[in-house]
Amino acid sequence: MLLTITYTGQSATDLGYLLHKNPKRVHSFELNFGSAYVFYPEATFERCTAALLLDINPVDLAKDFRNSSSEEPLFEYVNDRPYVASSFLSVAIANVFGTAMSGRSKERPELVDQQLSLQATITMLPASGGEDVIRRLFEPLGYKVATQGYLLDQKFIEWGSSRYFTVTIESNCRLVDLLNHIYVLMPVLDVKKHYWIGHDEIEKLLNRGSGWLSTHPEREMITNRYLKRKRSLVNQALSRLLAAEETVKEDTVQDEVGESAAEGKMERDLNLNERRLGTVAAVLRNLSAKRVIDLGCGEGRLLSILLKDREFIRIAGMDVSYRVLEKAKERLRLEELPPFQRERIKLFQGSLIYRDHRIQGYDAVTVIEVIEHLDLNRLVAFEKVLFEYTHPPAVVITTPNREYNVKYLNLNKEFRHNDHRFEWTREEFKTWATAIAGRYGYQVDFLNIGDEDPEYGAPTQMGVFTR
Ligand code: SAH
Repeated sequence: MLLTITYTGQSATDLGYLLHKNPKRVHSFELNFGSAYVFYPEATFERCTAALLLDINPVDLAKDFRNSSSEEPLFEYVNDRPYVASSFLSVAIANVFGTAMSGRSKERPELVDQQLSLQATITMLPASGGEDVIRRLFEPLGYKVATQGYLLDQKFIEWGSSRYFTVTIESNCRLVDLLNHIYVLMPVLDVKKHYWIGHDEIEKLLNRGSGWLSTHPEREMITNRYLKRKRSLVNQALSRLLAAEETVKEDTVQDEVGESAAEGKMERDLNLNERRLGTVAAVLRNLSAKRVIDLGCGEGRLLSILLKDREFIRIAGMDVSYRVLEKAKERLRLEELPPFQRERIKLFQGSLIYRDHRIQGYDAVTVIEVIEHLDLNRLVAFEKVLFEYTHPPAVVITTPNREYNVKYLNLNKEFRHNDHRFEWTREEFKTWATAIAGRYGYQVDFLNIGDEDPEYGAPTQMGVFTR
């Protein structure tokens, strides 16, 4: 497996200072699955190429695989790993170019933040989804992309092409960005990952993806594939990604607290609502929900986000208040929608605490900042209607985290909103949600939304129920 990085420019051999590897020498490294070498096939004043060659030891690999349970029984003995650019190469990059990846250079600090004319070639990259996916991943980051495909077998042309590609990307960019992009996107293209995917993988993804992943149009695919579709990890990663995003816009609607408190004082809450709804939408996409109903939809803010995404083929909103449904109609401009759009969405009046056949037939039900408006003794009815009678494949519920209220300095009443009947601590919400999940055969994952305080947690808490 080979990765080459070429820098074209004045004093091109400075690449050696940026990578912390002298172009005059061959550098070798022992990794626990083989050896890595860095050398420079060319090093002139105008053009300098560094090559990272990874030589995987199949015997070490087989030992490693035996300890992990592979889905393919013979995979440990018969596999492409020693010959392709995969997550092993990412590990090697992090080991060998760690300092460069963190954006440090002792001798040439001024070069670190400069846009350099760089080109990288990754040889034999297994790309699930082929050239299309390669382009969708690299092009939005500003790279010019060239790919070369290979036949599965030159003697049997009818077998068609393989999933392997040699990929060249080119851009004027910082070296640290190029390395981080390759580090994350290589295992995203390859479907296999050689190590156990746990929570520290979220940290790696968010750390290496910092500054570009949250705004990448394929951020959900990247997160999904990087974390090997482990839903609870993906949800957590996405909610943190979205929380990190700067989304303060002029027309942002303030959170309930923001509305009732002195104007503009609670700046940090300005976009909590938007973050919350963005996270809900991301979770829904991640659940592959096509038909979604929002209970207690209010003025239809979530619905308007869903309506813009064609993945959602059927959308409904229900609320007990006729007045807010009228507002929702206006916000969504239902009257002006073309007929095919108009058919995707419906609004109706109803209450969460009564059985209602109109709530049935959806892949996911969302209940966003609503349960705290119900009297505690009504909560049992709500629970039965939703989890027992309707019993949808997925339910997303959000509610304020009461502990966080101490951070709202001008909150001079018990709850964030006059109509709230209760607000729960994280423990209270968890206890309630876990009990429900147990009673009705669901699994529940918890997510935090908004800026997290180390002691009090995040302003909003979310439970994602799936069965
Ligand atoms: N989900 C929306 C609105 C939250 S405000 C958003 O996130 O923007 C709470 C909403 O719940 C209000 O619109 C209120 O009318 C609605 N609601 C309160 N009790 C309800 C009930 N029993 N059944 C249905 N909706 C209810």
